[in-house]
Amino acid sequence: MTWVSHSIVTFATLFVATHNVFIAGCATLGSAFPDQIEDAFWKSNHRSYSHWFVLYVAALAFFWTPDMLSVTGVKVWQMGMIEMMRRFLFWFFAGALLHILEDAVCGPVPLWRPTKRTTVLPRLFKVKSVGEVLFVIGYCAIMYLVEIV
Ligand SMILES: [Zn+2]
Repeated sequence: MTWVSHSIVTFATLFVATHNVFIAGCATLGSAFPDQIEDAFWKSNHRSYSHWFVLYVAALAFFWTPDMLSVTGVKVWQMGMIEMMRRFLFWFFAGALLHILEDAVCGPVPLWRPTKRTTVLPRLFKVKSVGEVLFVIGYCAIMYLVEIV
């Protein structure tokens, strides 16, 4: 999936799930992270360590606090720099984890071993195809229906 598609799908998902622009925004920034870090460190090994869900689940566990869902931009600003970064990073890595799920519908991703890619979900479209555009439009339509019902 392209970074634009990741951004749209991640923002739509997190906004519909939480109704919180801070959370959806942080996750949208994080949705580009696995491909960005891959370009920097694992360019020759597409979808390996950078796309291994275990690393992002560990990051979420590390940054988790029970009030993570109730945070707003104003509240975060009043909490101080450390708590603000903690919440930002939690939702940033939640976006990165969603990236992997989004990649799983358009190709294999690592499952149990970071260097072995597996077809986890059925392939719905090819990256950068008309199918990807139609998927994003259809996904947003479904999120809209979920929102108004
Ligand atoms: Zn990716």
